[in-house]
Amino acid sequence: MCIFCKIAGGEIPAQFLYESAKVVAFRDLDPQAPVHILVIPRDHFENAAELAAADSATISELFTAARELATSEGLDGYRIAFNTGASAGQSVFHAHLHLLGGRAFAWPPG
Ligand code: AMP
Repeated sequence: MCIFCKIAGGEIPAQFLYESAKVVAFRDLDPQAPVHILVIPRDHFENAAELAAADSATISELFTAARELATSEGLDGYRIAFNTGASAGQSVFHAHLHLLGGRAFAWPPG
């Protein structure tokens, strides 16, 4: 079972900042910004593209979670990212939304 399936299933303990029927959110263990939260589907999808092909309701819940977390974290601006594929920097192959905030961000991203 993949590490994010274990976190979503409670097999690896994590403090959930947000939970809904289809998603959970927790802080990234290697934060790249003062606020760096991961929102993941409870079910396993390899990446955002696989999720988009399979389950639009879960995508909706990912973005609802991000919006509510941005508010509860007091962010007035933030970045959402889905690294999709190893060449884009994906290292955990269970779809996840990165919510980053609390600092200025450069564009284009590296
Ligand atoms: P990505 O590189 O887009 O696949 O993002 C995976 C993210 O998961 C990275 O930012 C890691 O720091 C983070 N990560 C990996 N394992 C854990 C964990 N056990 N708890 C929290 N975050 C994790």
